[in-house]
Order: sequence, then structure tokens, then C-alpha cells
Amino acid sequence: MITLKTYVFDLEMELIQNFIDGQHISSDSSESLDIYEPATGGIYGQLRDSNANDIDHAVRSAKTAFALWSDLTVRERAVHLNNIAKGIEKRLDEFAEIESRDTGKPIALSRSLDIPRSVLNFKFFAEHGENFEFNYDLNNETSQNHINRSPLGVVACISPWNLPLYLFTWKIAPALITGNTVIAKPSELAPYTAYMLGKVCQEVGLPPGVLNIVNGMGSTCGELLVKHKEIKAISFTGGTSTGKLISQIASKTFKKLSLEMGGKNPAIIFEDCNYELMLENILRSSFSNQGQICLCSSRLLIERTIYEKFKHDLSLKVSELLIGDPSKTETQFGSISSKGHFDKVVSYIDMVKEEGGKIIAGGKSVKLEGRCSNGWFIEPTLVEGLSPSSRLNQEEIFGPVVTLQSFETESEAIDLANNTDYGLSATVWTKDLEKGQRVSKKIDAGVIWINCWLLRDLRTPFGGMKNSGLGREGGDDALKFFTEQKNICIPV
Ligand code: NAD
Repeated sequence: MITLKTYVFDLEMELIQNFIDGQHISSDSSESLDIYEPATGGIYGQLRDSNANDIDHAVRSAKTAFALWSDLTVRERAVHLNNIAKGIEKRLDEFAEIESRDTGKPIALSRSLDIPRSVLNFKFFAEHGENFEFNYDLNNETSQNHINRSPLGVVACISPWNLPLYLFTWKIAPALITGNTVIAKPSELAPYTAYMLGKVCQEVGLPPGVLNIVNGMGSTCGELLVKHKEIKAISFTGGTSTGKLISQIASKTFKKLSLEMGGKNPAIIFEDCNYELMLENILRSSFSNQGQICLCSSRLLIERTIYEKFKHDLSLKVSELLIGDPSKTETQFGSISSKGHFDKVVSYIDMVKEEGGKIIAGGKSVKLEGRCSNGWFIEPTLVEGLSPSSRLNQEEIFGPVVTLQSFETESEAIDLANNTDYGLSATVWTKDLEKGQRVSKKIDAGVIWINCWLLRDLRTPFGGMKNSGLGREGGDDALKFFTEQKNICIPV
């Protein structure tokens, strides 16, 4: 039995438990999974792979809580969401430390991005829900039509390991404010801050059963949620192949689906851009979180006239990134999030030569001294010379491997940008905003940033085209997803 360091509210813990009916309880399953610290390669915890009895228990608890929760006013629910936000905020440092340990991301990132954004997700949807039009009328000479939106019932939220609490709460908050009760499953690879969220909910008095958190593998626990007859909707973020499987399974019970999936995001860099601004942002958009953000730029398309200069300058910047122990505040570049993912990223670097490419920066795994000597670190890597149809330019690597291609004309840049099955996000770099808008309109992606990256207004629709997504999250779209419309018609 593993004894964990005491982190969460001074509780002694041996394994991560499910949070059902307002309590952390043992799973019915005896199948356990180890939880690794990717920066050290060491095991520091365990969870159980929840089984059908666990899921049924969570569904019963959520169904019972639905009567009470859906009956509250939006304002009353908003008070609970704001309390959860405050509960996380109070322990921001502790959450940030755990998120960094669970994923290998630099603590500076979890402190500045992951946890503040998780807090904001609850605050934002509390306020946005209060301003949302749940009911409206459409009247004419013959009829009065009262249209109202009501919650779906019990819904499931399934999230990935790259931004664990950030994406978990991005789904949970809109589901709750609209009056649904939730069963949420974090990634089995980074479950710890979700466990802590359960503690916060308990502490701030969220009614039992309103939010239930179950742990386990996607193929077991996750699939049980997708198959469950009582679950009305699935909000999923993760890989495209998983999304495809979920949509096949969920269609049998006609569940509502929101799928946020993979990407292969282009950055189009024109000669007339603000060069320094572009360079700083390309470094960030390519290698933040070790390239493990779905919105990261992974294909850099550069106007031929500045290709050589850009290649030189970016390579220099990449070589200066401080790779190190994620728990140290000065670290800029941490570890890859799991051994399996490390092997996948290395396999793509290994295929550079046979795909006709050349590594121009990085390209090796990194052996650090001391505490992190067995961690899963890979240098930030730049590759050039690949054909647009090569596997490295077509498949999502989701790591610190970025390709460079050059273009001569605007239309060539657009063709290259659209030349994958994905369509999540893109960036365009030019001082000519007319050109920026013209190009953006022709790019198949759900989010396009001109002269910036990851600038988010949470009211805007978020999601992907093609194999990157189905539906939109954020703002009104999320509230619409988690509600069903009803028209009550009366003759006049
Ligand atoms: P994944 O698809 O392996 O897992 C995501 C979640 O789904 C996990 O909780 C997992 O346990 C669960 N799951 C896996 N198989 C399942 C099944 N059969 N039924 C139900 N649930 C199942 O993805 P990942 O490796 O955790 O995350 C990386 C992927 O997520 C990348 O492709 C990345 O682009 C994508 N992502 C997309 C966005 C976006 O907003 N579009 C954001 C972040 C990450």
C-alpha cells in the first residue's frame, strides 16, 4: 500500500477515492491503477478503476439530487458556483503544486493559467447563467408561444490530462448552472486536482449528489458513463479516435454530445508581421505545456522571404528555454505527461529522417540530474523539409515537436493551413488586418487568432471543425448544450 504525502487539507490519503453523494468513498472495484509523477517517473498514488456498481451509485445520487438542484433559481445555483470558485482560490498554491506534480507542467504555468482559469470557469458561468435568457415568448395573431429551456437531467463530463482542472471545470460549471446534476470523470493520468475539487465541494456545502466524480480508465469507467441509459448528455474533451468511439456508442441511446478533440494547428507567418511580437508568441504557442495544449501551433507556415531568419531566430529561442524540474518556479519547460505519451512523441522524432525531414533544434530526450533523473523529458524540437503530406505534418503529435514549411503566396498559405483532417485553431501574423481577416475567413478552424494566441473571452464559441470537434463550448453555446427547449403554445 502506498502512503501519500499529506497534501489535501491535511488529510492522510492512500488512494484517490470517488466523490459520490457528497462523500469520498471507496470504489466497489478492486482493480487499481498507479498514478505517476511524470517529472520523476515515480508512483505517488493509486486510484480504482470504477465499475458498473460505482457508476450506478453515482447515477442514483445525481438523479436524487436533480429534483432539488433543478428547482433552485439560477441565482441560488450561482451562489454555490461562486463558493466553489472561492474554495479553489483560497488554496490556489496547493492546487497549482498538485497540478504540476500530476502532469509535469511548470508550476509557473499551473499557478498562472490552470488554476486561475479553473476559478474563473465557475465565476464566469455563475454570472453568465444569471444573464442568460432561459425563457422567451414568440407571439403572433393566432398563437402565444412560451419557449423555455430546462436542464437535461444527469449529464457526464469527461476530460483529458493536459489541462486537468481547467477543462474539467470548463464543463462542470455550465452543466451545474443550468440545473443539471453531473457525473464527471477526470483523466486517469492526472486525477488529483479533481479529487481536491470534491473536497472543496464538501467544504463549501454543495448539496450531496449535485457533482459526483468517478475515477478510472476510459475504456471501462468512461465507457460505462457513455452507455448509461440515465445519462442524457456527454461533454467530452480528448483525442479524436476516442471521440469517434464515444459518438458511436452514445448514438444507441440518443445522447446529446459535445466533442472537443485533437488539432494540428497552423500558424501563418507573413513577412509584414510585427516580427518580435510574432516570435515571442510563436515560442509560447508552440511549446507552452511542452506543446500539450490542443491549441498549440504545431505547423509553422512562413513566408519564404523571412524563412531563414525566422528559422535561425526561433531555433535560438528554443535552445534558451529552461528545461527542468517542474516544481521550480524558474522552469519554463517541464516533462511529458506520461511514459506512454513520451514514447509516442519519441516515435515521431524517430521517423523524421525516413519522412524526409531534418531536425533543426532539439530532437533528443533529456536526462536531468537529481530528483528528476528518471523523468520523461524531451527537448523542444523543430523540424523542416517535410512534405505537407508527411505523417509529422498530418498526425497530431500533441507534444514539443513543431514543423516548419515555407510559402510564396497567400493562397498557398491557406492551402497548406487547410491541408489536414483537423480544424481546431490557427494563428495569422500580419500587420495588414484586412489581409489577416481575408485569410482567416478561408481557414477551416473554429478559433483563429490574428497577432495573438490563447486570448480568450469566455463568452465566445469555442470548438473545432472537421475531425477536431462537434458542437461549441463556452458562453451561450455551453448553456444551450446543457438545456433542452420546450415550446408551450396557446391559441389567442
Ligand atoms: P483521450 O481521448 O485518451 O482521453 C480523454 C478522456 O476520455 C479521459 O478521461 C479518458 O479516460 C476518457 N476516455 C478514453 N476512452 C474512453 C472511452 N472509450 N469512453 C469514454 N471515455 C473515454 O485523450 P487524452 O490523451 O487524455 O488527451 C489528449 C487529447 O485531447 C489530444 O488529442 C488533444 O488534442 C485533445 N484535447 C482537445 C481539446 C479541445 O478543446 N479540442 C483540449 C484538450 C485536449
